[in-house]
Amino acid sequence: MSDPSPREGGPESAAGRFNTPGRFDTLCVHAGQSPEPVTGAITTPIFQTSTYVQEGIGRHRGYEYARLQNPTREASEANIAALEGGRHGIAFSSGLAAIECLAKAVAGGGHIVSEENTYGGTTRMFRQILARLGIKVTLVDARDPAAVEAAIRPQTRLIHLETPSNPLMRIADIETVGAVARRHGALLCVDSTFASPSNQRPLALGADVAMHSTTKYLSGHSDVLGGILVVDDDALADELHFVRKSTGPVPGPMDSWLTLRGTRTLHLRMERHNHNGMLVAEFLESHPAVRAVHYPGLPVHPQHDLARRQMTGFSGMLSAELSRADAERMVERTRLFRLAESLGGVESMISIPSVMTHASVPEEARLRMGITNGLVRFSVGIEDGRDLVEDLEQALRTLE
Ligand SMILES: *Cc1c(COP(=O)(O)O)cnc(C)c1O
Repeated sequence: MSDPSPREGGPESAAGRFNTPGRFDTLCVHAGQSPEPVTGAITTPIFQTSTYVQEGIGRHRGYEYARLQNPTREASEANIAALEGGRHGIAFSSGLAAIECLAKAVAGGGHIVSEENTYGGTTRMFRQILARLGIKVTLVDARDPAAVEAAIRPQTRLIHLETPSNPLMRIADIETVGAVARRHGALLCVDSTFASPSNQRPLALGADVAMHSTTKYLSGHSDVLGGILVVDDDALADELHFVRKSTGPVPGPMDSWLTLRGTRTLHLRMERHNHNGMLVAEFLESHPAVRAVHYPGLPVHPQHDLARRQMTGFSGMLSAELSRADAERMVERTRLFRLAESLGGVESMISIPSVMTHASVPEEARLRMGITNGLVRFSVGIEDGRDLVEDLEQALRTLE
């Protein structure tokens, strides 16, 4: 890297490389990247190395050991940080590792208030793992900022939102909850995985941390697992780097490279995801076997106005309510929509959250939120949208 030491703290920080000029689409392609200094390679190489040779005792080029520094990882971090409009990107081996690191960094011995309808694995960690670290968690319906505020205690260090939420596409008001967080001296983290930075930028709306499972839209090709936290504050970034290097949940060089390869086309992919998501939502809304469609882009979504204020597009994630029998038959009859967990890839996927992604959420809590046994989740890909609608049409026709 030609500029490995942007500020105190050395190359562990991606700050300083966040100076690529240009608008969002240009940043996708260029941010965080410069030609490799030895050969001029235009693509950031995969630095598949665990350590770096030092010139003398205490004399090195800012690279000592791969848990601390890796140029491929730093290029990917700087790229995503620029897309979120933050100064620091800190990447992890998975989305859950990112959330866990943040909790350890800021909430040890304290309290977290979280949206209740999150990715199933997030709730499982909050309920079953953080308690072992002495961190208490209160789950709330974060559509209501007053409910978030009412759950705050003197020990509250962190508010965790997921918006749009998985799988009900609930929207939380980032700006209003950000003000609540500031009033009570807590940090606000937004899991923005379902939106991607193409459609929503939490830091600009007042969040302290934008979080992603990069496994999903950012990587975009269903071939890698990863997570990232993007923050603007230098001291918070230092603390996160410290916890990460002391505990070790870093992504490998190959995975970092695949993620970077993905984000360089994020803007183009998201345009199609947004377009196809709307087509599929409108089709499902008009179908007699479908009782309800949850998609923030539809005017019937109860928080459509809020979604339009804080998002510029609505992505390819949606869910629909059918009878349980119809739902189960439908997901086994689609030909293009593949029955699979995960989301955000170029290919369309379909799933039943109650028995797949959210099976670990207690049934009572699941049903109370509306994650019924007939709820079907769609991750709409970037195929020709007409083929996707036809696929759903034939899968539903066999139900009549
Ligand atoms: C997948 C996902 C996670 C967890 O990320 P992993 O990369 O699977 O650890 C967290 N939040 C959301 C919204 C997700 O979709």
